[in-house]
Formats: sequence, structure tokens, C-alpha cells
Amino acid sequence: MSFTRDTADALQYAAVLVNTRPTAAHGEGLTSVAELVEQLLEWDWTGDLPGTEDELETVRRVRSRLREYWDADLDQAVLITNDLLRDGDARPQLVNHEPLGWHVHATPSNAPLATRLAVDTAMAMVDVIRADELDRLKVCAAQDCDDVLVDLSRNRSRKFCDGTCGNNANVAAYRARQADARQSTERQPRTRRPSARPAAQPSS
Ligand SMILES: [Zn+2]
Ligand SMILES: [Zn+2]
Repeated sequence: MSFTRDTADALQYAAVLVNTRPTAAHGEGLTSVAELVEQLLEWDWTGDLPGTEDELETVRRVRSRLREYWDADLDQAVLITNDLLRDGDARPQLVNHEPLGWHVHATPSNAPLATRLAVDTAMAMVDVIRADELDRLKVCAAQDCDDVLVDLSRNRSRKFCDGTCGNNANVAAYRARQADARQSTERQPRTRRPSARPAAQPSS
């Protein structure tokens, strides 16, 4: 199952936004309006950009609401989605702009940013729920990390958030493999295989 690009982008951005929440492991990730604007532009966000502290504050509130998706079962995810669509007065319209081509906007481009973020995520969740893919939403498997991810990999193998956890886990796995390799070399020393040498050229 692969989602359309607008859905995949909306899900990935929702995870990025949710992961700016301060947690036990890290501080506030959205410390200024400028930071939020930079993030939105990075994610090809269109429509009016935020300019005030109030807007920043409402975005911070909505990301906590969106975080609930990652703890939700199917029924709860449906409730959240319907609430967000109703509260945001969602009216899906097909629009065409780069880099997505034809896709859906369900709020006008001058609606409050927090509303657009909420509705955009909810619209993506409509696809997720209809496709029975809620288990794509995962909380990072690293101990004491509360960040989230959307696993869009083919074999659903992702376990760690996009922060440092994935790297840390890779380093730990690499060290474990190295340690294993060292142990097995100690147990059974490798002998050079003669076939590893280049074959002698036949002389004519
Ligand atoms: Zn768009
Ligand atoms: Zn993590």
C-alpha cells in the first residue's frame, strides 16, 4: 500500500511538527515564529504564513492534539479525525500546484494556520484509516524517547524517530556486530583460503 504524495507529505510533516513538542528527552523545538515559518517552507507549505506569537501558540496546542493519533486505537483515531474535520469546517477542493500536482485542500489558504495543519493531517488520516494502515504510526522504540514516526517503508521495518535515536541504534547495532565478530574470530581463528590468491596465468 502506498499513499499519494500529498497524504504521505502531510503525515510526515505531522510527525515532524509533533516532535517539536518538549519532552523528557528534549526541549521546545518551535521557539519562534521564524522557526515555524522556516519549517513550513521546508515542507512546501502554501497559503498564509504565521506572523504572530498567538499563531505560534495555537500551533503548539494543535500539535499536542495531533500527538493523540499515535496513542489512538482505530475508534479513537476515527473520533479525532471527525472532530478535526468538523472543527476545521473542512471542505475538500481539488487544487493544482507544484510540487504536488492535483491534490486536495480542505481549508482556504487564509484560514488560521493551526486549523489548516489540523485539517490537513485529518484528511491524510482519512486515507490511513480507509486503507487500514493505522499501524504505520509508531512511537519511537528507543528508551526514554517519546517522539513519533510514520513508517512508510515497504516492509514496515522502521522503529526509531528521525532524531538521533535511529543513528544511536545503528551505532549500537554496529558495535554489537563488531563485538560478535571479534568473539567469533577469537573462538575459531580464520585460515587463509588458497583460492583467495589470484590464479596463476597459464603460460603458453
Ligand atoms: Zn497544496
Ligand atoms: Zn526517538
